[in-house]
Amino acid sequence: MNLVLMGLPGAGKGTQAERIVEQYDIPHISTGDMFRAAIKSQTELGLQAKSYMDKGELVPDEVTIGIVRERLSKDDCTKGFLLDGFPRTVAQASALEAILAELERQIDFVINIDVDKNILMERLTGRRICKDCGATYHLVFNPPAKEGVCDRCGGELYQRADDNQETVQTRLEVNVKQTQPLLDFYEDKGYLRNINGQQDIDKVFANIQELLGSLQ
Ligand SMILES: [Zn+2]
Repeated sequence: MNLVLMGLPGAGKGTQAERIVEQYDIPHISTGDMFRAAIKSQTELGLQAKSYMDKGELVPDEVTIGIVRERLSKDDCTKGFLLDGFPRTVAQASALEAILAELERQIDFVINIDVDKNILMERLTGRRICKDCGATYHLVFNPPAKEGVCDRCGGELYQRADDNQETVQTRLEVNVKQTQPLLDFYEDKGYLRNINGQQDIDKVFANIQELLGSLQ
């Protein structure tokens, strides 16, 4: 079960990733975790990655790809894996194809959790946080009993600057621009499966299970 998980911010990728790895007992491989592990075990590539990160620079593809190769070669990936946050570019996707070919494997599915951009806007801009106790609410999914007031402590609710309309819009647009060529690449390869992410969480996961059932 060799999977790549994709989805824009707010699509619910994290929740579905947790469920997939729990249900199918495959490792969840995210770029951040991979970097942290490589740095912690002080591998050659980990140290290289660290030197870029310490300078606040992007880790170059060749280093990232090397770390992915090391990670996918580990024993716990024998049954499969769920890649999350990698690949980000078509160049990285091509490199992944080469790595998997070396390992005599191939991607089964690229699961894209698909949600309309307007709905993502609503999800991502709806968060409100209590100034006093830090409790989080959502205008649509978890609204406070009284508008603008924390249920728990009566504190005032505010919107983080990261969550405002303009910032979220820009973040989504950048993501769409980055992601589209990758989706096209995987569509051409025949790996891409779009899952409707506008349903409730259980239904989204049920759709993923249906898809993955075909591999077992
Ligand atoms: Zn509060």
